[in-house]
This record gives sequence, C-alpha cells and structure tokens, in this order.
Amino acid sequence: MSKQSKALLIDITKCIGCQQCSVACKAGHKQPGDPEPTLSATAFTVIEPRGEKFVRRLCMHCEDPSCASVCPVGAIVKTAQGAVRYDGSKCIGCRYCMIACPFSVPKYEWSKLAPYVTKCDMCAERVLAGKQTLCAEACPTGATTFGDREDLLMEAHKRIVENPGTYVPRIYGEKEVGGTSVFYISDVPFEQLGFIEPPMNQPMPTLSAAALGEVPTVVTIGGSLLAGLYWFTQRRREVALAQVAEQDEKERN
Ligand code: SF4
Ligand code: SF4
Ligand code: SF4
Repeated sequence: MSKQSKALLIDITKCIGCQQCSVACKAGHKQPGDPEPTLSATAFTVIEPRGEKFVRRLCMHCEDPSCASVCPVGAIVKTAQGAVRYDGSKCIGCRYCMIACPFSVPKYEWSKLAPYVTKCDMCAERVLAGKQTLCAEACPTGATTFGDREDLLMEAHKRIVENPGTYVPRIYGEKEVGGTSVFYISDVPFEQLGFIEPPMNQPMPTLSAAALGEVPTVVTIGGSLLAGLYWFTQRRREVALAQVAEQDEKERN
C-alpha cells in the first residue's frame, strides 16, 4: 500500500445498514456490547437510519482538525497517513477537543476512574502495517472503501459523473471544514440525512481557537468570521447539552 494520505469513501447508496462495520470496529478495539445507536466511548462508528437510508458516523479525520488545534498539550495530531490520532498519555482531560469538534465526535470515558477521550483512529496501526481499516474490510457491499485520499476523491467524482441522476452532485468532506479524510456520496441531499452544514468551506481551527479564548487575538473580524463564530458557539452549546444528557443517562443506569 502506498504511503500517501489515506481516506475512507462512504457511498450511502450502497449501505444496507447491516452493521458489519460497527461490529468489526468494536471487535478490533475490544469494545463490549452490540452496535450502538450513537457514538460513545465504546462505539467509534455507528449506523444511523435516516428514512430508507443508513448513514455511517465516525471521526471525519479533518485535514485541519479543530480538536487538535485547541488541545493545549498536543495530545491530538493529524498524521501524514491521514488519521487524526489521540495520545492518551499526553491528555490532561480538559475536553476542549470535545467542545471544538464541529461533528461532536470525541467522547469521554465518564464511567472510568482514569478516563480518556475516545474516537476512531482510522485503524492507525493496521494502516501503518499496510492493511485497510477493519470497517472497510468488513463491509459486504463496498459502501465503505479505504484507499489513497486522492484516488478516493477521483473515484467519488467518477461515480457521480458516470451515474447521472443517481447521486447529488456533491462529495461531502471534499471542501467542508477545509476538507476531511472521510468522504460521503449520496442519492439524497446531505441536509436531509442529518449532516451539518458548516458556515464556510474553510478550516474551523481559527474559529474554534478564538471562541475558546486560546489564540490568536483577532483584530479585524469580518462578517463571515462573525457568522462562523456564532455558528461555532451554537454548536458548543449543543454539544454541552448533549454531554449533560449523556452523563445523566449514565448516572441513571
Ligand atoms: S471530526 Fe472532530 S474529532 Fe475528528 S478530526 Fe475532525 S475535529 Fe477532530
Ligand atoms: S477506521 Fe477503524 S477505528 Fe475507525 S470506524 Fe473504521 S474500524 Fe473503527
Ligand atoms: S458494513 Fe457496509 S453496508 Fe453494512 S452497515 Fe457498514 S457501511 Fe453499510
């Protein structure tokens, strides 16, 4: 396998909701239980039913990740292989990454005495060893494929062009938040499938860092940046509420 940056392509038209990706991911990461409905500390990927469609959720492995930009100790890094990786040995538990992620991906091991942040690592050890990700290997329909980022982008464009009227003319992840290493193509508009609509196609770190009071001092704030900051603040509020609900749920059980 080449040493270029890797990625995943998820073709929503091909997903049958069989959950084999979730099962393989859990088994490979020694996580207990059956596939879960939402991302959690024990589920790095989930399948969300949306009408007649199934949408896989996982870390988007952003090209310029907000989670990494706000981490004060460098515990999250974007690697050359494409994966955004988390190093628990450096983590101080501030959970800024959870607030900063526009996709609400990182979760926290609330039930553990020494908790870590958790998320998909794009099967980094396997990929470094020249293998594909467990989820791509397990998918029986080719709805999830793994490969070089540039090749997968070309493949996504090719499927859209060669199947007129099938796909919406958009590759989600090509431009959103400055680009990601997980791409989606679909026959249903993404906004109908619960995908977030970032305010602009630029990396979020500048916005998130400013919103968190980290760096830098923004002297001139244009209209688009203000819109982005407003959007980011709203997202942060939603994430905080979701976290409280998640914690309440865990305490009840
Ligand atoms: S989706 Fe969230 S957790 Fe994943 S790389 Fe992007 S900002 Fe980080
Ligand atoms: S890339 Fe690996 S860690 Fe991420 S969802 Fe797929 S199997 Fe799980
Ligand atoms: S294994 Fe493939 S077809 Fe099955 S739910 Fe996952 S992505 Fe969809």
